[in-house]
Amino acid sequence: MAPQTRRVLKQEKGHGAKTAKKQSPVSSSTVLPTDRSAANSWRTAIIQTLLLSIGLSLGLFYAWYSGAGDAQKVLVNQRPPPRYDEVAVGAAYAVVDIPGKGKGAIATRNISRGELILTEKPLFTVPPTIQTSPVEFIKEKLALTSEPQRWAFFNLSYVNFPKDKDPLRDVDHLAFAIFETNAVRAGKEVGVFPRMARLNHGCSSGFNTVYSYRETEGTLYIHAIKPIAVGEELLTTYTDTKKPRHQRRSFLQQTYGFGCTCSVCSLPEAESKASDSRLSAMAANWARFAKWIDGTINGVEAIELVREIWKLGDEEGYGSERGRLAADAVWVAAGHSDGSRKKDSFKAL
Ligand SMILES: [Zn+2]
Repeated sequence: MAPQTRRVLKQEKGHGAKTAKKQSPVSSSTVLPTDRSAANSWRTAIIQTLLLSIGLSLGLFYAWYSGAGDAQKVLVNQRPPPRYDEVAVGAAYAVVDIPGKGKGAIATRNISRGELILTEKPLFTVPPTIQTSPVEFIKEKLALTSEPQRWAFFNLSYVNFPKDKDPLRDVDHLAFAIFETNAVRAGKEVGVFPRMARLNHGCSSGFNTVYSYRETEGTLYIHAIKPIAVGEELLTTYTDTKKPRHQRRSFLQQTYGFGCTCSVCSLPEAESKASDSRLSAMAANWARFAKWIDGTINGVEAIELVREIWKLGDEEGYGSERGRLAADAVWVAAGHSDGSRKKDSFKAL
């Protein structure tokens, strides 16, 4: 996986997430009174009920008329939300409340390394450049989704909501904040995937799933990169975590609004420093390896760097990006298949 493809993403952390309250149904059984005083009470009750109904109707009308739009109409809907974002393919996991984290995905059975965990189509995608206002654009995109999809969307969390606005009244801005927080790269565009968004973050060796988007299918795939035991949390990564702990945590706090407490960020100081050192070396080796394309390093050094990155990954428990690394190594080998550096013929491949 290329972690940087996750442009902006944060899982629900319990703050700012919108959830609809279930309403108790009103009893349909009414016992008619028999004596006068009771009849007066009954008439009073009818008047009170009528006044309450009128007040409630006016309130709902105001909520709609005040520019809340379709999304707000969904929010005031009395029905409980469809569980669109809590469906797991093959019952590999369940979405549950996790103390201190909000929602999260827990394995309901043992999952093998390499196993497909989830496929998901985006609710909608957005091109890199648009001609209209971003807020309006997202509003229009949401208008094309189904009610269960909008429920799933508005149950996602958000950060960086404008301080001068009210999320309950400025639903279009709320939608945009949710989009900004949860959109991930989907080919040349970015998209929102509510089911995938339930996966929380882990750094370095702390995450056990990766995702990839198949543009030709318009589908996102999530695979396990490690064996995951029943009861274990499924974690992905929101960013390139080959950075020292303080940099990772600072970035995650600033971008996604949470302080990372993953297994790697929770390491004792000495072990954390050793981990940081391995991750920094991996990042430096990746950067050096990229120089092969312009001839700065030769094929022998490039393959040595591949071996070193692999070794550091083993020591760190960092198994991500290996598909890309192996594929790049094949390109290097192909470029030197006649024993010499043939940059031009490589480019033609
Ligand atoms: Zn972490």
